[in-house]
Amino acid sequence: MAEIGLVGLGVMGANLALNMAEKGHTIAVFNRTAEKTKAYIAAAGKLADRLTPCYTIKELAAAITPPRPIVIMVLAGPPVDEVGHELVPELAKGDMLIDAGNANFRDTRRRVDEYNGLGLDFLGIGVSGGEEGARHGPSIMAGGTPKAWGRVEKILLDISAKFNGEPCAALLGPEGAGHFVKTIHNGIEYADMEMIAEIYGVMRDGFGLAPPAMADIFAKWNEGKLKSYLIEITGTVLSTVDAQSGKPLVDVIQDTAGQKGTGRWSTMEAQDLGVPATVIEAAVSARGLSAGRDQRLAGAKLFGSPSMKLGDALGTQAAALADLEQALLAGKIAAYAQGFAVMAKASEAWNWQLPLGTVAKIWRAGCIIRSVFLDDIAKAYAAGGAIANLMMTEPFTSDLKASEASLRRVVAAAALKGIATPALASALAYFDLSRTARTTANLIQGQRDFFGAHGFERTDSTGKGFHGPWHTSV
Ligand code: NAP
Repeated sequence: MAEIGLVGLGVMGANLALNMAEKGHTIAVFNRTAEKTKAYIAAAGKLADRLTPCYTIKELAAAITPPRPIVIMVLAGPPVDEVGHELVPELAKGDMLIDAGNANFRDTRRRVDEYNGLGLDFLGIGVSGGEEGARHGPSIMAGGTPKAWGRVEKILLDISAKFNGEPCAALLGPEGAGHFVKTIHNGIEYADMEMIAEIYGVMRDGFGLAPPAMADIFAKWNEGKLKSYLIEITGTVLSTVDAQSGKPLVDVIQDTAGQKGTGRWSTMEAQDLGVPATVIEAAVSARGLSAGRDQRLAGAKLFGSPSMKLGDALGTQAAALADLEQALLAGKIAAYAQGFAVMAKASEAWNWQLPLGTVAKIWRAGCIIRSVFLDDIAKAYAAGGAIANLMMTEPFTSDLKASEASLRRVVAAAALKGIATPALASALAYFDLSRTARTTANLIQGQRDFFGAHGFERTDSTGKGFHGPWHTSV
């Protein structure tokens, strides 16, 4: 009998099951399309000894030692409910479903109630790291009860990525907490990727650099404060040559970005919680604008395309590259500050007590945004003390002081030449507004009181609910 079951032998499920088998666990696997299961077992080599192929849900349930833990790794949304509903008649009280896909945390909350009502445990786990991570060590963000987590903790810790020997898997809170954290992880990932792409755009369109030269620059940056998986793979993507055309592969890739929803969800949740996540929003919107290619081409025809050449706007090439590196660091600090602020507010709103230091720790390896930067965030939380905003916490405050001017120069120079840098510009505006002692919201309060009698506070007295009259001339 197998220790655990798994439904869904797609990219992620297939690799997670191999990872479990490699760590010595026994797994019963099922996939809707039977041929995939057969081919999978045939290709599993020696690991097939620990995999039990099942061709019906009934067979799957019978192949697992009760009380059964069963991982569902299918497409997020209705398929998870379909699989869950197919499983229920074959399960007994005390069995447990584990949704490991990219679920919306609101769906996870609903499913926890539904399955708990049937006497079943339900764990919602966010898994990051793509195909490679699933196979050799992902970052695992779990939400559920300590009892449910305890039942599969060993397996999940065994298969997770390790940072200095510490597993990148943890129970982060009840019900939807794990999937919420995964959603924000992906929102930050969108922001990271967009800002890297914007810096690439400044190098390509502003300075006319070729992909191999840019690859070298990213490789060098990967030795400093920006060291991260995303910077590393950017260098590799830029240095890859297309076998078909002989050109840099990046140059023959269509400029329309896809998205599956987690980035959009993170901005919706941020708005719902009233927490500004402008860099993430800019990144999600930039993907949307890229996808509207026909409209962009019509726009280019109508308004023309500026030359975009930056010349010596950022000084010597060495000075310009230093500015670009620093601008990316400043933007990154703002984006992560926003993501962590959203999680802090969600934790309060849902009473989750999210351990944000642990979140930073389990993101240091395995996941797509893994970086040395996350180790600094983990250390900042480990140092104790309340963190209202990462920008106002060391070492990020010092880093921002040192990099702010670069971000300003890059955004300004790009804006003057028509190079779009929406996420970097949002990061700059977020930083500027976050340290503005007197904003312009006094005028907004005046407008609101004018048309809606909403009232305002005065700077020269206490109390609320002051009003015009607005027509009295001074
Ligand atoms: P995938 O390769 O497209 O595989 C999808 C799997 O879902 C297949 O096994 C498919 O079965 C099954 N499926 C779809 N609809 C079903 C239904 N109605 N009933 C039963 N089975 C159904 O997907 P994936 O990349 O492994 O992604 C799985 C989950 O992990 C998703 O939630 C995804 O967002 C998340 N995720 C993906 C990545 C990644 O990098 N790919 C990273 C993190 C998280 P058939 O073979 O029969 O079609």
